[in-house]
Amino acid sequence: MGPEPLEPQFTAATLLAACADRKAPLKSMLLDQKIVAGLGNIYVAEALYRADLHPALPAASLTRPAAGKLVRAIRAVLNEAVEAGGSSLRDYVRPEGDMGYFQHAWRVYGRAGEPCPRCPGPPACAGVERMTQSGRSSFFCPRHQKS
Ligand SMILES: [Zn+2]
Repeated sequence: MGPEPLEPQFTAATLLAACADRKAPLKSMLLDQKIVAGLGNIYVAEALYRADLHPALPAASLTRPAAGKLVRAIRAVLNEAVEAGGSSLRDYVRPEGDMGYFQHAWRVYGRAGEPCPRCPGPPACAGVERMTQSGRSSFFCPRHQKS
């Protein structure tokens, strides 16, 4: 098992090392329990969105600055979820967990076809898109999340 996302052992450097030479999509790396433990599908979508990274980006393409931004985004999303729910992280970090309270705060997850909260709208941005990766839904903004 890898470190949990809020543990100090989970850093941009360790994430970058795990992604080096890997052709798999970045999203798969983040769902890999050997790299980071217990990060669920929804949190991955939200963190990638905040870090401006496309879920299908080849892991090896992750840059040092982007890895730092991604680690910060993951921690921010988790911390906000804990605060919003007033509950322990353990209740929120699980692959298929019911997200309860924090659901209203998702920016892309489950919002296919809705405007991206950070983009100006059509015609510049057609809104949040959904794609399937390894049988799981991924939600992203095709305009500002770079692949
Ligand atoms: Zn956008």
